[in-house]
Amino acid sequence: MNQQENYPEIREAVAKLCTRFPGEYWRSLDREHAYPTEFVQALTESGYLSVMIPEEYGGVGLPLGAACAVLEEIQRAGCNGGACHAQMYIMGTVLRHGSDAQKQKYLPAIAAGELRLQAFAVTEPGSGTDTTRIRTRAVRDGDHYVVNGQKVFISRTEHSDLMVLLVRTTPREEGQKRTDGMSVLLVDMREALDNGMTITPIRTMMNHATTELFFDNLRVPVENRIGEEGKGFRYIMDGMNAERILIAAECIGDARYFVEKASSYAIDRVVFGRPIGQNQGVQFPIARAYIQSEAAACMVREATALFEAGQACGSEANMAKMLASEVAWQAGDTCIQTHGGYGFAEEYDIERKFRETRLYQVAPISTNLILSHVATHELGLPKSF
Ligand SMILES: Cc1cc2nc3c(=O)[nH]c(=O)nc-3n(C[C@H](O)[C@H](O)[C@H](O)COP(=O)(O)OP(=O)(O)OC[C@H]3O[C@@H](n4cnc5c(N)ncnc54)[C@H](O)[C@@H]3O)c2cc1C
Repeated sequence: MNQQENYPEIREAVAKLCTRFPGEYWRSLDREHAYPTEFVQALTESGYLSVMIPEEYGGVGLPLGAACAVLEEIQRAGCNGGACHAQMYIMGTVLRHGSDAQKQKYLPAIAAGELRLQAFAVTEPGSGTDTTRIRTRAVRDGDHYVVNGQKVFISRTEHSDLMVLLVRTTPREEGQKRTDGMSVLLVDMREALDNGMTITPIRTMMNHATTELFFDNLRVPVENRIGEEGKGFRYIMDGMNAERILIAAECIGDARYFVEKASSYAIDRVVFGRPIGQNQGVQFPIARAYIQSEAAACMVREATALFEAGQACGSEANMAKMLASEVAWQAGDTCIQTHGGYGFAEEYDIERKFRETRLYQVAPISTNLILSHVATHELGLPKSF
Protein backbone atom coordinates (compact mmCIF):
# COMPACT_ATOMS: atom_id res chain seq x y z
CA MET A 1 0.00 0.00 0.00
CA ASN A 2 1.98 2.98 1.23
CA GLN A 3 5.50 3.24 -0.18
CA GLN A 4 6.72 5.49 2.61
CA GLU A 5 6.32 3.02 5.43
CA ASN A 6 9.47 2.93 7.50
CA TYR A 7 10.86 0.05 9.59
CA PRO A 8 9.58 -2.66 7.20
CA GLU A 9 11.25 -5.49 9.18
CA ILE A 10 9.67 -4.38 12.44
CA ARG A 11 6.28 -3.98 10.76
CA GLU A 12 6.46 -7.44 9.23
CA ALA A 13 7.53 -9.08 12.49
CA VAL A 14 4.82 -7.32 14.52
CA ALA A 15 2.18 -8.23 11.95
CA LYS A 16 3.33 -11.86 12.17
CA LEU A 17 3.18 -11.83 15.96
CA CYS A 18 -0.35 -10.43 15.76
CA THR A 19 -1.56 -13.37 13.66
CA ARG A 20 -1.28 -15.43 16.86
CA PHE A 21 -4.01 -13.21 18.36
CA PRO A 22 -6.95 -13.32 15.95
CA GLY A 23 -10.38 -11.72 16.26
CA GLU A 24 -11.76 -14.54 18.39
CA TYR A 25 -9.10 -13.87 21.05
CA TRP A 26 -10.05 -10.18 21.29
CA ARG A 27 -13.78 -10.89 21.10
CA SER A 28 -13.73 -13.23 24.06
CA LEU A 29 -11.71 -10.74 26.12
CA ASP A 30 -14.09 -7.98 25.09
CA ARG A 31 -17.08 -9.96 26.33
CA GLU A 32 -15.45 -10.48 29.74
CA HIS A 33 -13.65 -7.13 29.87
CA ALA A 34 -10.50 -9.15 30.50
CA TYR A 35 -6.89 -8.05 29.98
CA PRO A 36 -4.92 -9.48 27.02
CA THR A 37 -2.17 -10.90 29.24
CA GLU A 38 -0.86 -13.38 26.64
CA PHE A 39 -0.68 -10.71 23.95
CA VAL A 40 1.19 -8.25 26.19
CA GLN A 41 3.50 -11.06 27.30
CA ALA A 42 4.30 -12.00 23.71
CA LEU A 43 4.96 -8.39 22.81
CA THR A 44 7.17 -7.92 25.86
CA GLU A 45 9.18 -11.07 25.12
CA SER A 46 9.66 -10.01 21.52
CA GLY A 47 11.26 -6.75 22.73
CA TYR A 48 8.88 -4.55 20.74
CA LEU A 49 7.48 -2.84 23.83
CA SER A 50 10.93 -1.60 24.81
CA VAL A 51 12.17 -0.45 21.41
CA MET A 52 12.69 3.07 22.77
CA ILE A 53 14.61 2.12 25.92
CA PRO A 54 18.29 2.94 25.26
CA GLU A 55 20.67 0.03 24.73
CA GLU A 56 22.63 0.91 27.88
CA TYR A 57 19.49 0.04 29.86
CA GLY A 58 18.78 -3.16 27.99
CA GLY A 59 16.42 -1.85 25.31
CA VAL A 60 16.83 -1.51 21.57
CA GLY A 61 17.37 2.26 21.61
CA LEU A 62 15.37 3.05 18.49
CA PRO A 63 13.70 6.42 17.92
CA LEU A 64 10.01 7.26 18.28
CA GLY A 65 9.24 6.29 14.68
CA ALA A 66 10.02 2.66 15.47
CA ALA A 67 7.55 2.63 18.35
CA CYS A 68 4.98 4.25 16.05
CA ALA A 69 5.53 1.45 13.53
CA VAL A 70 4.96 -1.18 16.24
CA LEU A 71 1.71 0.37 17.47
CA GLU A 72 0.39 1.11 14.00
CA GLU A 73 0.88 -2.50 12.91
CA ILE A 74 -0.79 -3.83 16.07
CA GLN A 75 -3.90 -1.78 15.32
CA ARG A 76 -3.81 -2.52 11.61
CA ALA A 77 -3.84 -6.24 12.41
CA GLY A 78 -7.06 -5.87 14.41
CA CYS A 79 -5.36 -6.14 17.82
CA ASN A 80 -5.46 -3.49 20.56
CA GLY A 81 -2.27 -1.79 21.71
CA GLY A 82 -4.25 0.19 24.29
CA ALA A 83 -3.47 -2.63 26.67
CA CYS A 84 0.21 -1.76 26.76
CA HIS A 85 1.05 1.35 24.73
CA ALA A 86 1.60 3.49 27.82
CA GLN A 87 4.91 1.83 28.66
CA MET A 88 6.41 3.36 25.55
CA TYR A 89 5.73 6.94 26.59
CA ILE A 90 5.74 6.69 30.39
CA MET A 91 9.23 5.25 30.23
CA GLY A 92 10.36 8.60 28.81
CA THR A 93 9.48 10.37 32.08
CA VAL A 94 11.90 8.11 33.98
CA LEU A 95 14.50 8.32 31.22
CA ARG A 96 14.47 12.10 30.88
CA HIS A 97 13.89 13.19 34.46
CA GLY A 98 14.77 10.21 36.68
CA SER A 99 18.03 10.03 38.64
CA ASP A 100 20.80 7.68 37.53
CA ALA A 101 19.89 5.36 40.40
CA GLN A 102 16.23 5.27 39.31
CA LYS A 103 17.16 4.60 35.70
CA GLN A 104 19.51 1.78 36.71
CA LYS A 105 16.90 0.31 39.02
CA TYR A 106 13.90 0.40 36.72
CA LEU A 107 14.74 0.65 33.04
CA PRO A 108 16.67 -2.64 32.61
CA ALA A 109 13.94 -4.50 34.51
CA ILE A 110 11.26 -2.89 32.32
CA ALA A 111 13.22 -3.75 29.17
CA ALA A 112 13.61 -7.36 30.37
CA GLY A 113 9.87 -7.63 31.00
CA GLU A 114 10.38 -8.15 34.75
CA LEU A 115 8.63 -4.91 35.65
CA ARG A 116 5.53 -3.47 34.03
CA LEU A 117 5.28 0.32 33.84
CA GLN A 118 1.85 0.71 32.31
CA ALA A 119 -0.02 3.13 34.56
CA PHE A 120 0.02 6.90 34.38
CA ALA A 121 -2.24 8.78 36.79
CA VAL A 122 -3.12 12.39 36.07
CA THR A 123 -6.91 12.73 35.65
CA GLU A 124 -9.11 13.48 38.66
CA PRO A 125 -12.88 13.82 38.92
CA GLY A 126 -12.67 17.40 40.20
CA SER A 127 -10.09 18.70 37.73
CA GLY A 128 -10.90 17.05 34.41
CA THR A 129 -8.84 18.53 31.63
CA ASP A 130 -7.66 21.38 33.86
CA THR A 131 -4.70 19.48 35.30
CA THR A 132 -3.50 22.38 37.45
CA ARG A 133 -6.57 21.84 39.62
CA ILE A 134 -5.65 18.33 40.72
CA ARG A 135 -6.17 17.88 44.44
CA THR A 136 -4.37 14.63 45.21
CA ARG A 137 -1.93 15.82 47.82
CA ALA A 138 1.45 14.47 48.90
CA VAL A 139 2.74 15.78 52.22
CA ARG A 140 6.31 15.14 53.31
CA ASP A 141 6.73 13.03 56.45
CA GLY A 142 10.42 12.27 57.02
CA ASP A 143 11.72 10.20 54.13
CA HIS A 144 8.21 9.50 52.81
CA TYR A 145 5.37 11.36 51.17
CA VAL A 146 1.89 10.68 52.53
CA VAL A 147 -0.58 10.73 49.65
CA ASN A 148 -4.31 11.39 49.91
CA GLY A 149 -6.78 11.90 47.12
CA GLN A 150 -8.43 10.28 44.13
CA LYS A 151 -7.77 9.65 40.45
CA VAL A 152 -10.24 8.57 37.79
CA PHE A 153 -9.97 6.74 34.45
CA ILE A 154 -6.50 5.44 35.23
CA SER A 155 -5.88 2.57 32.87
CA ARG A 156 -4.05 -0.73 33.38
CA THR A 157 -3.45 -0.17 37.12
CA GLU A 158 -4.36 -3.79 37.84
CA HIS A 159 -1.80 -4.95 35.30
CA SER A 160 1.15 -2.76 36.17
CA ASP A 161 3.90 -3.00 38.77
CA LEU A 162 4.71 0.70 38.68
CA MET A 163 2.67 3.85 38.23
CA VAL A 164 3.70 7.40 37.43
CA LEU A 165 1.53 9.56 39.70
CA LEU A 166 1.05 13.32 39.48
CA VAL A 167 0.35 14.92 42.86
CA ARG A 168 0.27 18.34 44.41
CA THR A 169 3.10 18.91 46.87
CA THR A 170 2.12 22.58 47.22
CA PRO A 171 -1.50 23.77 46.96
CA ARG A 172 -2.35 25.70 43.79
CA GLU A 173 -3.05 28.90 45.72
CA GLU A 174 0.45 28.91 47.22
CA GLY A 175 2.43 28.60 43.98
CA GLN A 176 3.59 31.58 41.93
CA LYS A 177 2.19 29.98 38.80
CA ARG A 178 -0.75 27.58 38.67
CA THR A 179 1.55 24.99 37.09
CA ASP A 180 3.96 25.15 40.05
CA GLY A 181 3.78 22.83 43.02
CA MET A 182 3.07 19.51 41.32
CA SER A 183 5.41 16.55 41.62
CA VAL A 184 5.79 13.14 40.00
CA LEU A 185 6.02 10.02 42.16
CA LEU A 186 6.79 6.52 41.01
CA VAL A 187 4.43 4.27 42.95
CA ASP A 188 5.18 0.60 43.46
CA MET A 189 1.71 -0.83 42.91
CA ARG A 190 2.54 -4.14 44.58
CA GLU A 191 3.34 -2.39 47.86
CA ALA A 192 0.62 0.23 47.57
CA LEU A 193 -2.36 -2.01 46.83
CA ASP A 194 -4.60 -2.26 49.90
CA ASN A 195 -1.87 -0.48 51.81
CA GLY A 196 -3.09 3.08 51.28
CA MET A 197 -4.32 2.62 47.70
CA THR A 198 -7.48 0.92 46.47
CA ILE A 199 -8.45 0.22 42.88
CA THR A 200 -12.02 0.14 41.57
CA PRO A 201 -12.54 -0.95 37.94
CA ILE A 202 -14.69 1.24 35.68
CA ARG A 203 -16.59 -0.61 32.95
CA THR A 204 -16.45 1.37 29.73
CA MET A 205 -17.96 0.83 26.27
CA MET A 206 -14.77 -0.90 25.20
CA ASN A 207 -12.36 -3.19 26.98
CA HIS A 208 -9.73 -0.79 28.32
CA ALA A 209 -8.92 -1.92 31.88
CA THR A 210 -9.53 1.54 33.27
CA THR A 211 -10.00 2.19 36.97
CA GLU A 212 -10.61 4.64 39.78
CA LEU A 213 -7.93 5.02 42.44
CA PHE A 214 -8.32 6.14 46.03
CA PHE A 215 -5.37 7.14 48.20
CA ASP A 216 -5.75 7.08 51.95
CA ASN A 217 -2.44 7.88 53.62
CA LEU A 218 -0.44 6.01 51.00
CA ARG A 219 3.24 6.21 51.91
CA VAL A 220 5.66 6.68 49.02
CA PRO A 221 9.42 6.91 49.67
CA VAL A 222 10.87 10.31 48.81
CA GLU A 223 13.51 8.48 46.75
CA ASN A 224 10.67 7.54 44.39
CA ARG A 225 10.07 11.14 43.40
CA ILE A 226 11.10 11.76 39.81
CA GLY A 227 13.03 14.98 39.34
CA GLU A 228 12.63 18.03 41.51
CA GLU A 229 9.74 18.66 43.85
CA GLY A 230 7.25 21.11 42.37
CA LYS A 231 8.37 20.68 38.75
CA GLY A 232 6.13 17.71 37.96
CA PHE A 233 3.79 19.49 35.58
CA ARG A 234 6.67 20.27 33.23
CA TYR A 235 7.88 16.65 33.36
CA ILE A 236 4.42 15.39 32.46
CA MET A 237 4.07 17.96 29.66
CA ASP A 238 7.45 16.84 28.31
CA GLY A 239 6.09 13.35 27.73
CA MET A 240 2.91 14.48 26.06
CA ASN A 241 4.22 14.99 22.57
CA ALA A 242 5.46 11.40 22.41
CA GLU A 243 2.15 10.20 23.82
CA ARG A 244 0.11 12.13 21.24
CA ILE A 245 2.28 10.92 18.35
CA LEU A 246 2.15 7.28 19.45
CA ILE A 247 -1.63 7.40 19.85
CA ALA A 248 -1.88 9.06 16.43
CA ALA A 249 0.12 6.16 14.95
CA GLU A 250 -2.32 3.73 16.54
CA CYS A 251 -5.21 5.61 14.96
CA ILE A 252 -3.52 5.41 11.56
CA GLY A 253 -3.33 1.64 12.13
CA ASP A 254 -7.04 1.59 12.94
CA ALA A 255 -7.88 3.65 9.85
CA ARG A 256 -5.87 1.29 7.65
CA TYR A 257 -7.54 -1.72 9.26
CA PHE A 258 -10.97 -0.30 8.39
CA VAL A 259 -10.02 0.77 4.86
CA GLU A 260 -8.47 -2.60 4.05
CA LYS A 261 -11.37 -4.52 5.56
CA ALA A 262 -13.96 -2.36 3.72
CA SER A 263 -12.11 -2.67 0.39
CA SER A 264 -11.81 -6.42 0.47
CA TYR A 265 -15.44 -6.86 1.53
CA ALA A 266 -16.62 -4.48 -1.20
CA ILE A 267 -14.78 -6.59 -3.78
CA ASP A 268 -16.13 -9.93 -2.50
CA ARG A 269 -19.73 -9.10 -1.62
CA VAL A 270 -22.02 -9.50 -4.63
CA VAL A 271 -25.48 -7.89 -4.63
CA PHE A 272 -27.62 -7.15 -7.72
CA GLY A 273 -25.26 -9.40 -9.65
CA ARG A 274 -22.09 -7.34 -9.11
CA PRO A 275 -19.59 -6.57 -6.36
CA ILE A 276 -20.95 -3.81 -4.13
CA GLY A 277 -17.60 -2.03 -4.56
CA GLN A 278 -18.41 -1.51 -8.23
CA ASN A 279 -21.00 1.03 -7.12
CA GLN A 280 -19.38 4.40 -6.73
CA GLY A 281 -21.69 5.11 -3.80
CA VAL A 282 -19.80 2.32 -2.01
CA GLN A 283 -16.29 2.86 -3.37
CA PHE A 284 -16.06 6.64 -2.94
CA PRO A 285 -16.40 6.73 0.86
CA ILE A 286 -13.68 4.05 1.08
CA ALA A 287 -11.42 6.03 -1.24
CA ARG A 288 -12.11 9.15 0.82
CA ALA A 289 -11.17 7.35 4.03
CA TYR A 290 -7.98 6.13 2.36
CA ILE A 291 -7.05 9.64 1.19
CA GLN A 292 -7.74 11.13 4.61
CA SER A 293 -5.80 8.42 6.43
CA GLU A 294 -2.79 8.94 4.16
CA ALA A 295 -2.96 12.70 4.80
CA ALA A 296 -3.14 12.13 8.54
CA ALA A 297 -0.21 9.68 8.26
CA CYS A 298 1.84 12.48 6.65
CA MET A 299 1.13 14.66 9.67
CA VAL A 300 2.18 11.83 12.01
CA ARG A 301 5.44 11.45 10.07
CA GLU A 302 6.02 15.20 10.23
CA ALA A 303 5.46 15.32 14.00
CA THR A 304 7.67 12.24 14.48
CA ALA A 305 10.50 13.75 12.44
CA LEU A 306 10.40 16.97 14.49
CA PHE A 307 10.31 15.01 17.74
CA GLU A 308 13.24 12.84 16.67
CA ALA A 309 15.21 15.96 15.69
CA GLY A 310 14.64 17.36 19.17
CA GLN A 311 12.58 20.26 17.84
CA ALA A 312 9.42 21.78 19.25
CA CYS A 313 6.48 19.74 17.99
CA GLY A 314 3.59 20.48 20.36
CA SER A 315 1.22 21.68 17.66
CA GLU A 316 2.24 19.02 15.13
CA ALA A 317 1.83 16.23 17.69
CA ASN A 318 -1.61 17.54 18.62
CA MET A 319 -2.66 18.02 15.01
CA ALA A 320 -1.50 14.52 14.13
CA LYS A 321 -3.49 13.06 17.01
CA MET A 322 -6.63 14.99 16.09
CA LEU A 323 -6.53 14.16 12.39
CA ALA A 324 -5.66 10.51 12.94
CA SER A 325 -8.31 9.94 15.61
CA GLU A 326 -10.98 11.54 13.43
CA VAL A 327 -10.06 9.65 10.30
CA ALA A 328 -9.98 6.35 12.20
CA TRP A 329 -13.52 7.01 13.37
CA GLN A 330 -14.70 8.05 9.89
CA ALA A 331 -13.02 5.02 8.30
CA GLY A 332 -14.75 2.83 10.91
CA ASP A 333 -18.09 4.37 10.05
CA THR A 334 -17.48 3.73 6.34
CA CYS A 335 -16.40 0.16 7.10
CA ILE A 336 -19.65 -0.51 8.97
CA GLN A 337 -21.70 1.03 6.17
CA THR A 338 -19.87 -1.06 3.58
CA HIS A 339 -20.61 -4.23 5.52
CA GLY A 340 -24.33 -3.46 5.85
CA GLY A 341 -25.84 -5.58 8.61
CA TYR A 342 -22.67 -7.64 9.00
CA GLY A 343 -20.83 -4.54 10.23
CA PHE A 344 -22.82 -4.88 13.44
CA ALA A 345 -22.14 -8.58 13.94
CA GLU A 346 -19.53 -9.24 16.63
CA GLU A 347 -17.77 -11.91 14.63
CA TYR A 348 -16.65 -9.35 12.03
CA ASP A 349 -14.71 -7.41 14.71
CA ILE A 350 -15.59 -4.08 13.10
CA GLU A 351 -17.99 -2.91 15.79
CA ARG A 352 -15.37 -3.74 18.44
CA LYS A 353 -12.66 -1.78 16.65
CA PHE A 354 -15.15 1.05 16.09
CA ARG A 355 -15.80 1.27 19.83
CA GLU A 356 -12.11 1.03 20.65
CA THR A 357 -10.97 3.80 18.31
CA ARG A 358 -13.63 6.25 19.52
CA LEU A 359 -11.68 6.77 22.72
CA TYR A 360 -8.91 8.67 21.00
CA GLN A 361 -11.03 11.72 20.29
CA VAL A 362 -11.33 12.13 24.07
CA ALA A 363 -8.18 10.63 25.61
CA PRO A 364 -5.41 11.37 26.26
CA ILE A 365 -6.61 14.83 25.24
CA SER A 366 -9.95 15.80 23.77
CA THR A 367 -10.37 17.40 20.36
CA ASN A 368 -11.55 20.74 21.77
CA LEU A 369 -8.37 21.15 23.75
CA ILE A 370 -6.31 20.49 20.62
CA LEU A 371 -8.31 23.07 18.69
CA SER A 372 -7.78 25.51 21.53
CA HIS A 373 -4.01 24.82 21.54
CA VAL A 374 -3.72 25.44 17.81
CA ALA A 375 -5.98 28.50 17.91
CA THR A 376 -3.89 30.16 20.59
CA HIS A 377 -0.38 28.89 19.81
CA GLU A 378 -0.46 28.90 16.01
CA LEU A 379 -3.05 31.53 15.19
CA GLY A 380 -2.55 33.95 18.06
CA LEU A 381 -6.21 33.92 19.08
CA PRO A 382 -6.99 34.89 22.66
CA LYS A 383 -7.02 32.13 25.28
CA SER A 384 -10.45 31.23 26.57
CA PHE A 385 -9.23 29.75 29.85
C1 LIG B 1 -11.02 4.72 28.70
C2 LIG B 1 -10.27 5.88 29.24
C3 LIG B 1 -8.95 5.70 29.65
C4 LIG B 1 -8.23 6.75 30.21
N1 LIG B 1 -6.97 6.51 30.70
C5 LIG B 1 -6.33 7.49 31.41
C6 LIG B 1 -5.09 7.22 32.09
O1 LIG B 1 -4.54 6.11 32.00
N2 LIG B 1 -4.53 8.21 32.83
C7 LIG B 1 -5.10 9.45 32.97
O2 LIG B 1 -4.54 10.29 33.67
N3 LIG B 1 -6.29 9.74 32.35
C8 LIG B 1 -6.91 8.79 31.58
N4 LIG B 1 -8.13 9.06 30.97
C9 LIG B 1 -8.74 10.37 31.17
C10 LIG B 1 -8.78 11.22 29.92
O3 LIG B 1 -7.49 11.70 29.64
C11 LIG B 1 -9.81 12.31 30.18
O4 LIG B 1 -11.09 11.69 30.19
C12 LIG B 1 -9.75 13.39 29.18
O5 LIG B 1 -8.54 14.08 29.30
C13 LIG B 1 -10.90 14.39 29.35
O6 LIG B 1 -11.06 14.75 30.71
P1 LIG B 1 -12.51 14.65 31.37
O7 LIG B 1 -13.05 13.31 31.09
O8 LIG B 1 -12.41 15.07 32.79
O9 LIG B 1 -13.35 15.70 30.57
P2 LIG B 1 -13.65 17.22 30.93
O10 LIG B 1 -12.40 17.97 31.22
O11 LIG B 1 -14.74 17.25 31.95
O12 LIG B 1 -14.23 17.74 29.55
C14 LIG B 1 -15.50 17.32 29.05
C15 LIG B 1 -15.69 17.86 27.65
O13 LIG B 1 -15.67 19.29 27.69
C16 LIG B 1 -14.69 19.79 26.80
N5 LIG B 1 -14.06 20.98 27.42
C17 LIG B 1 -13.61 21.11 28.69
N6 LIG B 1 -13.09 22.35 28.86
C18 LIG B 1 -13.20 22.99 27.66
C19 LIG B 1 -12.83 24.29 27.19
N7 LIG B 1 -12.23 25.17 27.98
N8 LIG B 1 -13.12 24.61 25.90
C20 LIG B 1 -13.72 23.72 25.09
N9 LIG B 1 -14.07 22.46 25.48
C21 LIG B 1 -13.82 22.11 26.75
C22 LIG B 1 -13.69 18.67 26.60
O14 LIG B 1 -13.06 18.79 25.36
C23 LIG B 1 -14.58 17.44 26.69
O15 LIG B 1 -15.10 17.14 25.43
C24 LIG B 1 -8.83 8.03 30.34
C25 LIG B 1 -10.15 8.23 29.90
C26 LIG B 1 -10.87 7.17 29.37
C27 LIG B 1 -12.29 7.41 28.95
